[in-house]
Amino acid sequence: MAVLEQMTSQRAIALEEKYGAQNYHPLPVVLSRGEGVYVWDVEGKKYYDFLSAYSAVNQGHCHPKIINALKNQAENLTLTSRAFYNDMLGRYEKFTTGFFGFDKLLPMNTGAEAVETAMKLARKWGYEKKGIPSNQAKIIVCQNNFHGRTISIISASNDPIATENFGPFTPGIVSIRYNDLNALAEALKDENVAAFLVEPIQGEAGVYVPDENYIKEAYDLCKAKNVLFVADEVQTGIARTGKLLATCGNCSCDDKNCSGTPEVKPDVLILGKAISGGVFPVSAVLANDDIMDVIRPGNHGSTFGGNPLACAVAIAALEVVKEERLAENADLLGRIFRTEMQKLVERTPLVRLVRGKGLLNAIVINDSEDSSTAWDICMALKENGLLAKPTHGNIIRFAPPLVMTEEQLHDCVAIITKTLLEFKK
Ligand SMILES: *Cc1c(COP(=O)(O)O)cnc(C)c1O
Repeated sequence: MAVLEQMTSQRAIALEEKYGAQNYHPLPVVLSRGEGVYVWDVEGKKYYDFLSAYSAVNQGHCHPKIINALKNQAENLTLTSRAFYNDMLGRYEKFTTGFFGFDKLLPMNTGAEAVETAMKLARKWGYEKKGIPSNQAKIIVCQNNFHGRTISIISASNDPIATENFGPFTPGIVSIRYNDLNALAEALKDENVAAFLVEPIQGEAGVYVPDENYIKEAYDLCKAKNVLFVADEVQTGIARTGKLLATCGNCSCDDKNCSGTPEVKPDVLILGKAISGGVFPVSAVLANDDIMDVIRPGNHGSTFGGNPLACAVAIAALEVVKEERLAENADLLGRIFRTEMQKLVERTPLVRLVRGKGLLNAIVINDSEDSSTAWDICMALKENGLLAKPTHGNIIRFAPPLVMTEEQLHDCVAIITKTLLEFKK
């Protein structure tokens, strides 16, 4: 057997720099193992993961139940394509539609693909059900959104880094201010609007939580105009914000102390990231029959979408969310976390504020948007054994796996507090 070259962090980073496209700017830590809320680098140093792969690993790293589902299924059947039926897809669709309270599911792989799917679905529904004249359909989106990286999705973006020199862009997209109901009402005056695509909390933008009434009233405005309310819950969904879904409508959640936004059931729900527990790319678009039935054979598809491996993994990942009461845990730990961070805000001028819901939180650093302070703080956190990443501007997102215990959370709060109080610019 060939002797494997001993991998060091330095070597791994050098390889990526030489052979990989430079489309990311990672924190300089090279991970080789993960378990629950922890990850280890190649030198064996242990860290708390406070990003959870952008909320894909809500169930914790290498959750044994999900990994077992992966292994068992991998030994039987991995991919058939949709040219044939397989014995897992229908089972997964029944389970997942029941879990979230929709008639139908369309399986894809990545979040961006699911958003694209929802945009296509909304347009086709607009022509065939709403009667929008051919090629005139519009989709309303919000400024500072993040929905993914395809051409049509970046056509909805106002981030210059994501869009510059990638044009021409997909037409039929109208961008309005987030958390602005008047702007939405104005945009909805156009009869050719098919859908409003929105994140219940803007994660990538810096964990912007809209006003309490925003989602519900935006939903009502859409309903009054026969416009589809399309919720991108790729990041906020699957218990991250303390509810199974941040839009929380007719889901199977039985929590009496609902901290989500009741009475909103999106017409179209987009899921990704943690629907697989970070084990495998799985995404899904859910809708009821009157919407989903505009999609006919040949209209849309994906070679890997709905593959048996993905189905087995996603069922296990959703079962873990329920069995381990991850929504309740995220809600409880999130409250503790924000209380503790609020104390920090009062102790150091370095932190301006904390905001978020459940375990999707961020602190805003008191420095100019283009300074490197948030990055430097993340480097110091890394030294102290906790991994987080700055998001847009001087904001640090804190999103640990939802399987964290209260004791571990207090440990993390201590690391963050110590790091920030000792931090020197
Ligand atoms: C991550 C994300 C996406 C894109 O998902 P990918 O799997 O990276 O394509 C879409 N929408 C939101 C809200 C996200 O956070």
